[in-house]
Amino acid sequence: MKRIKVAELLQGTALGQEVLLKGWVRTKRGNKFVNFIAVNDGSTINTIQVVADVQQFNEESLKDITTGACVAVTGTLVESQGKGQSVEIQAKIIEVIGLADPETYPLQKKGHSLEFLREIAHLRPRTNTFGAVFRIRHAMSYAVHKYFNDKGFYYVQTPIITGSDAEGAGQMFRVTTLDVANPPKTETGAVDFSQDFFGKTTNLTVSGQLEGEVAAMALGEIYTFGPTFRAENSNTTRHLAEFWMIEPEMAFYDLADNMELAEDFLKFLVLYALNNCKDDLQFLNDMYDKELLNRLNFVVNNNFERLEYTQAVEILKTAKQKFEYPVEWGTDLQSEHERYLVEKHFKKPVILINYPKHIKAFYMKQNEDGKTVRAMDVLFPGIGEIIGGSQREENYEKLAARIQEMGIHAEELWWYLELRKFGTAPHAGFGLGFERLILFVTGMGNIRDVIPFPRFPKSAEF
Ligand code: ATP
Ligand code: MN
Repeated sequence: MKRIKVAELLQGTALGQEVLLKGWVRTKRGNKFVNFIAVNDGSTINTIQVVADVQQFNEESLKDITTGACVAVTGTLVESQGKGQSVEIQAKIIEVIGLADPETYPLQKKGHSLEFLREIAHLRPRTNTFGAVFRIRHAMSYAVHKYFNDKGFYYVQTPIITGSDAEGAGQMFRVTTLDVANPPKTETGAVDFSQDFFGKTTNLTVSGQLEGEVAAMALGEIYTFGPTFRAENSNTTRHLAEFWMIEPEMAFYDLADNMELAEDFLKFLVLYALNNCKDDLQFLNDMYDKELLNRLNFVVNNNFERLEYTQAVEILKTAKQKFEYPVEWGTDLQSEHERYLVEKHFKKPVILINYPKHIKAFYMKQNEDGKTVRAMDVLFPGIGEIIGGSQREENYEKLAARIQEMGIHAEELWWYLELRKFGTAPHAGFGLGFERLILFVTGMGNIRDVIPFPRFPKSAEF
């Protein structure tokens, strides 16, 4: 017999038929006469109730059906007698595929803390919370590809190992096959990376943007969706050392086009979750954050505020709130400032543009004022920055001058500069941190709980 998943069984189309269910036991309760076994198989947050007549089974075999065990159940799908479910399975055969020792299985009771669950990342997907989060994460990845595919954007895979250390977005992890205890040395005593695997120093990428620009200058509109790595020692609830980023890059877009795309894209993703992840979102809304669904609907239904960095600084300087970090024109905004603008002042998502050039990356297009660049950050409630992007400098001389001014090794970027030499065009793009999106959509409080296997300082278990 073919196995039917719980999500489909619960729809009741197989009512009256004999069915085969496979999954993991969530709970078992009952009495001398009848046992009720709740089984989940990951296809939905809901469990299906299996009813086992104790007389019909020998008691020994029912004993092995404990929380966490894996079972295969053959039985008839019937209308449920009890409350709480519409259908249930009247069991004929129950096979225990995998035992779970009740003495040692860690997920015995409900209500484990998220911190504890992080320590058992190999088992936490079996909880309602993480099942919901990872199903939503899947739906969001699919929606990303759907959005861009439907718009005629091409998915481009950019390299994970990069030879450039000038991607301009944070500290990098070195990739090497040299013997760290005894590396080859040059005459001056420095490590001789010419003998390394690639004949030069290499790192894990912090962004696929530079290569994304190569593709945009040929294919028009492209996006990347891949892992990125940052060795920044930031132990926050919004930073990971390994995270996924979506980076669209578009020829012939200016900053205004870029903002329009970012807003449309985010609204599409949130609406997709609302339409396709109803049960999981309802669960998270009820369990963790009663405002979650309201917040998601609010984002879909309201226009994002567009604001100049300079105006934002004025607002922050006159704000009644005390900030930990003071604000002056020229300082980078901290998360507390971003959240003040979004949550207190405008009470909606904000797109901040035209930042001072010295706090932004070398490739951003310089404005005529000589002080600011065409950067844009999209700020979200509860998150702060969810997207960072810009119009790119397409003028060869201006870009080369900026690279020199900032002391970046131009040799490494020769190919990036050549894009401005041969058929240059205005273009723009942005990076959406995938886990920040998932944080927002799920309402979870810590970025370590929205990626299956989080990587952060002093932690690379699993
Ligand atoms: P922040 O100021 O929050 O550290 P950033 O300015 O370093 O972010 P960008 O370099 O613009 O971020 O990266 C683009 C997007 O990638 C950010 O808007 C954010 O959504 C995400 N992001 C950046 N760093 C991290 C990180 N360490 N972990 C998870 N997501 C990140
Ligand atoms: Mn950062």
